[in-house]
Amino acid sequence: MTDKKVRTRFAPSPTGYMHIGNLRTALYAYLYAKAEKGTFILRIEDTDRARYVPDAVDFIKRTLDAAHIVPDEGPGFGGDYGPYVQSERMAIYKEYAEKLVQLGKAYYCFCDPDEDHSTGKFGGYDRTCRDLPQEVIDEHLKNGDPYVIRQKMPLDGETTYFDVLHGNIRIPNEELEDQVLLKRDGMPTYNFANVIDDHLMGVTHIIRGTEFITSTPKHVLLYQSYGWELPTFIHLAPVMGKDENGAVSKLSKRHGATSFDDLVKMGYLPEAIVNYVALLGWSPKNSNQEIFTMDELIASFSLDGLSKSEAIFDYDKLGWVNGEYLKAMDDTAFAKLAKPFAGELPDYLDAHWDTLAALLKTRISRLGEIPDEIHFLIDFPAFDASLYVNKRNKVTPEKAKDLLPDVIALLESVSDEDWNNDSLYEKLEALVEEKGLKKGLVMWVVRIAAAGQKITPGGATEILTLLGKKNSLERIKKSLANLGNM
Ligand code: GLU
Repeated sequence: MTDKKVRTRFAPSPTGYMHIGNLRTALYAYLYAKAEKGTFILRIEDTDRARYVPDAVDFIKRTLDAAHIVPDEGPGFGGDYGPYVQSERMAIYKEYAEKLVQLGKAYYCFCDPDEDHSTGKFGGYDRTCRDLPQEVIDEHLKNGDPYVIRQKMPLDGETTYFDVLHGNIRIPNEELEDQVLLKRDGMPTYNFANVIDDHLMGVTHIIRGTEFITSTPKHVLLYQSYGWELPTFIHLAPVMGKDENGAVSKLSKRHGATSFDDLVKMGYLPEAIVNYVALLGWSPKNSNQEIFTMDELIASFSLDGLSKSEAIFDYDKLGWVNGEYLKAMDDTAFAKLAKPFAGELPDYLDAHWDTLAALLKTRISRLGEIPDEIHFLIDFPAFDASLYVNKRNKVTPEKAKDLLPDVIALLESVSDEDWNNDSLYEKLEALVEEKGLKKGLVMWVVRIAAAGQKITPGGATEILTLLGKKNSLERIKKSLANLGNM
């Protein structure tokens, strides 16, 4: 099997939502195909009409596109094994279901769905129709009676298959229900369509979540019934989330955002999400590298780097990875990308957006933090005088109150043309000299008086630049007035 060209697939059901676990499945299937110079297929498993969501296929394609996971074959991508949407392959499933009946590995079941037939072993179908005489079957078919086609499971022995991560998986056949393959309306079930398509599409490696590990024996029996070669199975452990109390459970909404789209909306870059998701259950061999381009992932990816244990989604780690991507961006590209996250800006900030963006770039872990980071430049509520206290620079509210009138006088004398970071810095330095004060003290007092908070993107003169002359003076005067009430 190993000398065959690798063909992997991502086979989502169109639910209008791309859970991080699904994205990881798609990514690994893609990376493995690309690492092996093989083919990556997108197949849409849309036979469960009750769960059908309009536009979900477009949504999947848009998501893969944003994540730079590019199918070689699939709906709208070309390929010789189509159609790649299961609802367009109904005739194929019917043909193969009937073939299986002829092979004696499946049977027509005419049982009334309203009657209870769930009294078989392990609560499964009671196999009423399993051994109907041929005349009875023919009679039903002649009458046009509705039927389902069920898989005829072996009654004893066991089914075994090999999973790359989990080794040999065995299941006693008596635990397997005679599952429905084709429903009354001609729709295949997931377990059936999935196998038919994986075979007909030449899939060599099936990469999917562990939730399918117990369905796989049923799939294996189908492959064997048709005499088809088995693909290689790789079942990935689920992505988990950590609760506040430290307990771990399958990643769900209560842990935070769980979909690719939601993370993008929060201001994580698609490249960073993909990079982080790649590390959720895979690590490179012989290296500690954590930041990867897609090409680097492809170059390093191999199945033996996959982990069989559960991975915990860590928002802090994602934030770190994302921060590295943001820092690596050039200032202009960052400013453009970050702008929509800033919201409506007052004119003075809009005019200085590039300067502000450059200050933000190295401070944030995601773009969604921007409104909080810049809020102080828009709103200036009264603050407590204790904010001036700074031990290192020996600042007290009293000292601030003494100094601020000089700062105001100085700033009033600065012309509009000179209102920029360098010249404001020079002028404040001159004041430091003149007064024989510590530079740290002056800069601190100006920063607090103009910003109203201790931690800010940029220092005193950068804040003054961003605010502009009029605003800066208004704020500092207000701060002085408030100190007057001490
Ligand atoms: N349609 C299944 C899902 O959405 C695919 C499972 C598989 O990859 O075989 O999870």
